[in-house]
Amino acid sequence: MRTSSPSLPTPNPIPTHVESPISNSSAASNVHLALPTTPNKNPKSSPSKALEPNVQEVVLGDLLIKPWYPSFYPEELVGAGTERLWVCKWCFRYSVDAGSFVGHVAACRRRVGSGETGRECAPGSLIYERGGYGIWEVDGEEEKLYTQNISLFAKLFLDTKSVFYDVTTFLYYLLVYSDPDTRESQVIGFFSKEKMSWDNNNLACIIVFPPWQRQGAGQILMGVSYELSKREGRLGGPEKPLSELGRRAYLSFWLSTLARYILAHASKKTFTVREISEDTYIAPDDVITTLKEMELLEQRKKGGADVVLNKALVREWVQRQKVDLREPIDMDCFVGVVWGEEGEGSES
Ligand SMILES: [Zn+2]
Repeated sequence: MRTSSPSLPTPNPIPTHVESPISNSSAASNVHLALPTTPNKNPKSSPSKALEPNVQEVVLGDLLIKPWYPSFYPEELVGAGTERLWVCKWCFRYSVDAGSFVGHVAACRRRVGSGETGRECAPGSLIYERGGYGIWEVDGEEEKLYTQNISLFAKLFLDTKSVFYDVTTFLYYLLVYSDPDTRESQVIGFFSKEKMSWDNNNLACIIVFPPWQRQGAGQILMGVSYELSKREGRLGGPEKPLSELGRRAYLSFWLSTLARYILAHASKKTFTVREISEDTYIAPDDVITTLKEMELLEQRKKGGADVVLNKALVREWVQRQKVDLREPIDMDCFVGVVWGEEGEGSES
């Protein structure tokens, strides 16, 4: 759980009985976690409610995890505070009753291993696959219960009031890790995205569940979200405002993307924010934020958008910050008909 440097992380096999010793105060150090975004449009619970989790612990498969924030599980279930909630690791249905939970798990239709592919845990269609990681696109309208349940589970680790009860207007991109040895598959995180975004947001909410954090999974999700916007011609970014955790996770993604981009243009000295943005699909504001963070803005011509960059400083900065310049995702690993070039169809 400590590896953070390799760009293509090798996650632990689904760990057993990992207690997540994360308190609210230390949650902030987990960079790749949650990126809650917009203010609540349709709050289901009072915003004045204390930030104390109302579920003390949650059992996900054979993991025992401590929630970080209050849940939005139904009031009648967790209203008075719940010691332990049982959540199915395949379909994310929940119960406070161990007996009925065990009954459900035995019969869960998403139970991995019940079919031929070993991928039954994720609904929707596979759009990306590389090194044990797969991304599945799910329409909230078609999988209402599933997307509601996974959102409720995510809320345990998100300090956001925007709960996604109206899942129908969102697409969900589930990150599934499949262990090559055990053939165990597990949804370890996801991001959601509005089908129609007036602000060109390419992402609404992103989360990697605590047992799988800090292994680069968040960077994969962000990489895929940007690649999708590139393919849609939707130049944008995550919904703002970002949480502090979200800001840091994104900054890390933008920093390595821009460093890669700048260093790849060996002979170029002057860039415009606009061309950086057009090539990387990172929104101009975010490009500027990132360059400022790198302290690389040598000069900006008055009234213009030219940025003169000192590449030696970029290299130095990359070394100092131990920035991994490898791409978090591989463009050739998108799969399916939608992603075939010029209608050539499925790659499989
Ligand atoms: Zn289930």
